[in-house]
Amino acid sequence: MKVKIGTSTLELLQGDITQQDTEAIVNAANRSLLGGGGVDGAIHRAAGPDLLAECRTLGGCDTGDAVITRGYRLKAKYVIHTVGPVYQRSRPGTERLLKSAYQRSLEVALAKGIRSVAFPSISTGAYGYPLDEAAPLALRTIADFLRKHPEIELVRFVLFSPKALRAFEEALEKLCSSRRRI
Ligand code: ADP
Repeated sequence: MKVKIGTSTLELLQGDITQQDTEAIVNAANRSLLGGGGVDGAIHRAAGPDLLAECRTLGGCDTGDAVITRGYRLKAKYVIHTVGPVYQRSRPGTERLLKSAYQRSLEVALAKGIRSVAFPSISTGAYGYPLDEAAPLALRTIADFLRKHPEIELVRFVLFSPKALRAFEEALEKLCSSRRRI
């Protein structure tokens, strides 16, 4: 599924983020930046050990923030490492932090002049954020950002499972029908 946000493209597909040829891919990292499971483990395996060596020099990353490294053996030239929140139902800060993880990733991309970025679904694996809450928030945040910053020409969500793809497709359909001009 693909939609236009102003002059930019927002795309959803099922796949493996490590195989993407966008200029940057986003990693759902943890605060240490020293490697983990899930998408983080897959990105480090595909990029090779130089990625971990560069991450070691960065001194970690706060929840809701993002930092950038080179992509090493990946097709993507850069990896933007962001840290999403661990899901906590009754904490209003959780939503703000997930939104911030997406926004800060795009701000970091913008600052480097990057025009195409692939995202995984942040926080919806080990960090337990329900897909039906995370998907609308993620898409709204990206759509708002793209409308303000057409310099970013492509954002591609690379969803690992059919279930995640379905949740994002449903959320994007709702978002498009709720806005006259997305
Ligand atoms: P978090 O700790 O932020 O929840 P995880 O890595 O556990 O991060 O999961 C985030 C999302 O990334 C999950 O939806 C998971 O299915 C997905 N994922 C895992 N491996 C990949 C991959 N190679 N490409 C894209 N998405 C992936």
